[in-house]
Amino acid sequence: MPEGPSIVILKEEIEQSTNKKIISVAGNSKQDIQRLAGKKIISFKSWGKHFLICFKGFSVRIHFLLFGKYAVNDRKVNPPRLALLFKKGEINFYSCSVQFIEQDLDEVYDWSADVMNDSWNAKAAKKKLLEKPDVWVTDALLDQNIFAGVGNIIKNEVLYRTGIHPENKVGDLPIKKLNDLIKQARVYSFDFLEWKKAFVLRKHWKAHTKKICPKCGNAIVKKYLGKTNRRTFFCTSCQVLYS
Ligand SMILES: [Zn+2]
Repeated sequence: MPEGPSIVILKEEIEQSTNKKIISVAGNSKQDIQRLAGKKIISFKSWGKHFLICFKGFSVRIHFLLFGKYAVNDRKVNPPRLALLFKKGEINFYSCSVQFIEQDLDEVYDWSADVMNDSWNAKAAKKKLLEKPDVWVTDALLDQNIFAGVGNIIKNEVLYRTGIHPENKVGDLPIKKLNDLIKQARVYSFDFLEWKKAFVLRKHWKAHTKKICPKCGNAIVKKYLGKTNRRTFFCTSCQVLYS
């Protein structure tokens, strides 16, 4: 599943289609996608893992789920869920969810929860975390209402970077560590963005999918953890369990 920074890359890749008129629409989405024909795209936005195509009076939300893909001025073998054709160029979305949003996006989305957004608010994240002292940090980082855009890779790398064991409960973290966790959720997401753009993201993984801890040389543990039951990679000597 693409994490927040990957959606920002998509947004940058198709920014050039802003103000373009859609000449024709295709795709196997069950939504009334033909209403997009003849419409002009006003802007592209992202909120966490959601990609938003904005029109006058409504928006389209693309969610890539587990296996979603896209192609800009190119096509993949599978039939697209949604294909937008312009006079010059096209955008194709595959294996994703397509939904129309009729309300104002400011009513639907809390932009301050998106780690990639200029409106990101660390204090608001801290307040939400402190209201959930019994939640494991491994789940808290994946909570899209607190850290929209953070996915499993970012989770593993942020926990490693901050030296926090994934099985800590939020309420057991020293306040300095909690602040560090919140700060790095955003900082690492921007590192992810830069590295991914340069095609060197994997090279910088320290814990995710790794076998040996680059700091201490011990084995990296792999466990499916938390309510989210996601693959978690961590070092039991470098990442502290506070309880
Ligand atoms: Zn280690």
